[in-house]
Amino acid sequence: MSNFYRQQAWVAIRVRFIWAGRYRRDVFNLTSPSGNSYFKTVRFILFDIDGTLLDSGGAGSRALNLAFKEMFSVDDAFRTVSMAGKTDLQIMLEGAKLYGIDCSNGIMPAFFSAYVRHLREQMDIRKGHVKPGIREALEILTSCNKYFLGLLTGNIEKGARIKLESFGLSSYFRIGAFGSDHEDRNRLLPVAVDKLREQVSCPVSFNDCVVIGDTPRDIDCSKPYGAYAIAVATGPYSAASLAAAGADIIFEDLSDTERFISALERKK
Ligand SMILES: [Mg+2]
Repeated sequence: MSNFYRQQAWVAIRVRFIWAGRYRRDVFNLTSPSGNSYFKTVRFILFDIDGTLLDSGGAGSRALNLAFKEMFSVDDAFRTVSMAGKTDLQIMLEGAKLYGIDCSNGIMPAFFSAYVRHLREQMDIRKGHVKPGIREALEILTSCNKYFLGLLTGNIEKGARIKLESFGLSSYFRIGAFGSDHEDRNRLLPVAVDKLREQVSCPVSFNDCVVIGDTPRDIDCSKPYGAYAIAVATGPYSAASLAAAGADIIFEDLSDTERFISALERKK
């Protein structure tokens, strides 16, 4: 297809989404004035945060280290702990185990309270960025009434909101499953689906879920349920390693919005 026709096709797609946006939903009011749901079915698009939506410039790991030092006087405690794809709670427990710290005595709320405080400060001095194509994709998805956006992240919810708000992305996501919902990321998709079922008056099945992430852990937490796994090589893992992990489709990044939306369209 020539560039001219490709451009025309893309314009036609954008016009269709803008038209559909006239029916933009209010996520806190998912039914029409007559009481009927706008949705016959919901396609639930769940995004990971770190490495997928954004790069916090290391603010998250710095905040974890600062909180640990504040509470246990250990410098750079998580330097040997691999964090990609893990929940915050899982990372904390691995770090604590390295130093023989007992976490069964109620210290976790105090730790994460310190973490949130440090994260807010670190994000203010961040040098992070939003990943390519993310803002464009989110704009189109939210202007179309066939998708419902959510989060599936290892971040505790307060930490997730701080990171997203720092880049003006939080308002795209009114619902999600977080590291504060469960230590095990593989248990988070049912949590997210349950939350959505409470808000919409139509069926939500795992088959209608699409999970988008940058690590094999994002794939592992979606495929066993029958969800569609889209991998992006915008984090620490290559496209080849994400393919080997079983992703349904892989993108180097999401800058090709047309191809990304097409991938969602092919999902039944
Ligand atoms: Mg990630």
